[in-house]
Amino acid sequence: MKLTIHGAARQVTGSMHLLAVGAYKILIDCGLDYEKDRSLIDNENFPFNPSEIDVVVLTHAHIDHSGNLPTLVRLGFCGQILCTPATADLTELLLFDSVSIFLNKTAKKNKHNRKKHHHGTQQQPLYLQKHVMDTVERFVTIGFNRPFRINGDIVLTFIQVGHLLGAAAAIFKVNDNGEEKTIGFTGDIGRHNYPVLNDPEPLPPVDYLVSESTYGGRYHTKDKTVEQALVETIEKACIKEQGRLIIPAFSIGRTQSLVYSLNKIFTSGLLPPVRVFVDSPMAVAATEIFRKHHNQVNSDARHFYESQGDEFEFDNLVYTQNLKDSRQVSNYFEPCIIISSAGMLEGGRIQDHLYENIQNYYCTILFIGYCAKGTLGFRLLRGDPIVRIKDRELAVYATIKKTDVLSAHGDHEDLMNIARGQDKAKLKNIFLVHGEDVSMEALAAGMEAEGFVVTIPEKEMGYDL
Ligand SMILES: [Zn+2]
Repeated sequence: MKLTIHGAARQVTGSMHLLAVGAYKILIDCGLDYEKDRSLIDNENFPFNPSEIDVVVLTHAHIDHSGNLPTLVRLGFCGQILCTPATADLTELLLFDSVSIFLNKTAKKNKHNRKKHHHGTQQQPLYLQKHVMDTVERFVTIGFNRPFRINGDIVLTFIQVGHLLGAAAAIFKVNDNGEEKTIGFTGDIGRHNYPVLNDPEPLPPVDYLVSESTYGGRYHTKDKTVEQALVETIEKACIKEQGRLIIPAFSIGRTQSLVYSLNKIFTSGLLPPVRVFVDSPMAVAATEIFRKHHNQVNSDARHFYESQGDEFEFDNLVYTQNLKDSRQVSNYFEPCIIISSAGMLEGGRIQDHLYENIQNYYCTILFIGYCAKGTLGFRLLRGDPIVRIKDRELAVYATIKKTDVLSAHGDHEDLMNIARGQDKAKLKNIFLVHGEDVSMEALAAGMEAEGFVVTIPEKEMGYDL
């Protein structure tokens, strides 16, 4: 069999790996590559003919793993897409949202070109709604730990990895000309004791492992729980200073874990009540998917549900759907918590909240996720005294804070533990993907020091296994 790393090589986005067993071709993930130096439309240049792929296996819904599927379908892929049931639902939501983002971006670009009198071809979005519809029709869902025979020679098993509802590692058992070989793709590895999600399960022993490396060389702070970190910040921002706390959060996954943690804090009386607004229609839709797949949440959340009721509802929590409601959030003058997307502050309703509050001394902005270089979130975290929001230069008077307690990726130790859980005598090679160079090198050094053979592939590198 042959493994080719077509994406997320020495970078985080654009996960896409090809596993060929004889003439049969399996594509593992088909993510959007949105690295800063690349144009989105470049995602249509596949290094293979999409019609030659027999099946796609999708590890989880995040756009850097799923976001290029509609392009693959648009360009001729006509097989099935295998994933877990929650991944199917969350991916559908995210892909339709991507179409809206593309349409907005291309409309803006075309308007800009017209203004500058740049004539020529109009920018086209990478894909349209109809391509997303053609894509979601191809989903075939498989539960965790249920071996699924793809063909006479290949069996696929999904193992739960935390990280996001439905997220899985894909383990393949292959009969390669009479010889049994196993290869595992970690997808993204989550953390232990993460609100709402189950812990990552150990992977079965494999011959080859393709592992993510996002947090290689980095360690999460472990001195505070999610609830302790939130209580500390809310107490200062909303109770002592009587101000507002804005938490930029990705609508899918992060927001649900945050809402559940706040639910526990306020229900148990750890803090006096504070109004909480979740200002994101996507978050409302995603929360419905979490409710639908309630059997996938962890035992803590399930226990809470049985004893206290819905994890995602509590007194003083308000979900806003339309723009009119969103404006009312701005006009609420009591201390409050506003959770809104996007997490890196690029677009979304969070921009309105920042525009109105960035010059407010009684406002705290709490970052709970990673902000890529070049984003407004990155500039605020860097400490820029003046930032540009909605075409205006604004001085930053709000307090900027950051915590990693809600990061959805395992850290260096968690990734090391995935390798340590393997049978060292059996495991021939670990291929590192989905990380920046410095993270990959730190993780490779850690793994090699413990006797593992590690490869950091360049893009398009192929390996006969
Ligand atoms: Zn992910």
